[in-house]
Amino acid sequence: MVDPESSADVIVVGAGIVGICCALSIAEHGKRVRLVDRDEPGQGCSYGNAGIISPWSLVPQSMPGLWKNIPGMVLKEDGPVSIRVPYLPKLIPWGLRFLRNGTEAQVRAAADAMETLNQSNVQLYRRHLQGTGYEHLVRDSWYVHAFRNAKAASVSGLGYRIRIEKGADIERIDAQALRDLEPALSHDFAAAILIKGQARAVSPGEIARVLCDKAQRLGVEVTRATVRALTRAESERWAVNTDAGDFTAQKLVVAAGAWSADLLKAFGVHIPLAAERGYHVEFRDPGIEINHSIMDVDKMAVASAMSGGVRLAGTAEFAHRDAPPNSKRIEELARVARRIFPALDTAQMTPWMGARPSFPDSLPMLGEFPAHKGLFSAFGHSHYGLMMAPKTGQIIADLVSDRVPNIDLEPYAVNRF
Ligand SMILES: Cc1cc2nc3c(=O)[nH]c(=O)nc-3n(C[C@H](O)[C@H](O)[C@H](O)COP(=O)(O)OP(=O)(O)OC[C@H]3O[C@@H](n4cnc5c(N)ncnc54)[C@H](O)[C@@H]3O)c2cc1C
Repeated sequence: MVDPESSADVIVVGAGIVGICCALSIAEHGKRVRLVDRDEPGQGCSYGNAGIISPWSLVPQSMPGLWKNIPGMVLKEDGPVSIRVPYLPKLIPWGLRFLRNGTEAQVRAAADAMETLNQSNVQLYRRHLQGTGYEHLVRDSWYVHAFRNAKAASVSGLGYRIRIEKGADIERIDAQALRDLEPALSHDFAAAILIKGQARAVSPGEIARVLCDKAQRLGVEVTRATVRALTRAESERWAVNTDAGDFTAQKLVVAAGAWSADLLKAFGVHIPLAAERGYHVEFRDPGIEINHSIMDVDKMAVASAMSGGVRLAGTAEFAHRDAPPNSKRIEELARVARRIFPALDTAQMTPWMGARPSFPDSLPMLGEFPAHKGLFSAFGHSHYGLMMAPKTGQIIADLVSDRVPNIDLEPYAVNRF
């Protein structure tokens, strides 16, 4: 039962994994928090991702020379990137900014900023889950980047070099060693690069639910309501207008993923946040076992053993955020799954689609809007939101508590575009 009168110090809009981690960390600072979502917690993009939690996911999406591969990726019907034509006018300015970020200097700067958010992600999840009875939801794992072309499996590329410079334990293995490691993989794969020392979520949706329950035990009030508008109320408070009533608080955190920009337009905030839609197919009783997170590098799709079966997640589809899922992308992902794992039992398949909240520089927007005191952003985590959520929560908790986080927040600045 919603009680609009009950007062909160901070309202967090959006109970994806980012909003949940924010609410949890803010509550740990002793603040009263209301967490608002129109759905059950963690059922948006945070539900269906590939489950990778890695300190070594330090490489942004825009890389030097990527533009040369774009026609091949986009124009092929079975390519990993797809663009719906009506979306093109919106995409072009975003895409140009994205490509401009693909210089070595920009990539290195982004990698430093990503490292700050990712370096302790596995430990932070383990700390959040400790004592909940669901510690098993995060497991140690390697990242197996599997290549069909053995020559392409080289650690000399910029992305691997940056990881190695920053201390990642990386190993190249040949076809036989790959078969020993992951016997279910197709023999088409000729080599792999292993990134060790990371973890995987065996059910990202369940992690969100467990952490949201924990936040409630710390006093967070979870309100199921659709936010219609955000306004500045009397006496320096923020008002959140919802279909379940109005709520006010002194501080307001927008963590509404790919929907965040819509909520901020009323304040004259215009930001290049794209909905980069991704898909997964999950196979119950798959008849195969896989041990690690495995990326088919050619198809840019990631397979992992989840509690509900084997999941293959991938695709970057640029289309209207709320358009219905594209059945061709789902069929293609299912085809890729059968090619990666020839013995996969595909009888029980569940498809899913979600929208990554993506900025052209692959970095989230974290901080207070200078012209709107008490209004904070915590969104835009693109391909890395599961793994960056716990650190994001800590940073936002510091900011709303008027503590200065001991890190450089400039790369995530709200006015950087
Ligand atoms: C295929 C795929 C694979 C991925 N793999 C990985 C991976 O392996 N590792 C990783 O770290 N990341 C991965 N990601 C990215 C990650 O899933 C996202 O970055 C992350 O889930 C974003 O979380 P969020 O909380 O910002 O958004 P969301 O989970 O989308 O949450 C936003 C919430 O806001 C709510 N909301 C929006 N508007 C309103 C409104 N008006 N009123 C009320 N509520 C509202 C929504 O209901 C939703 O619950 C992947 C993404 C995809 C699509």
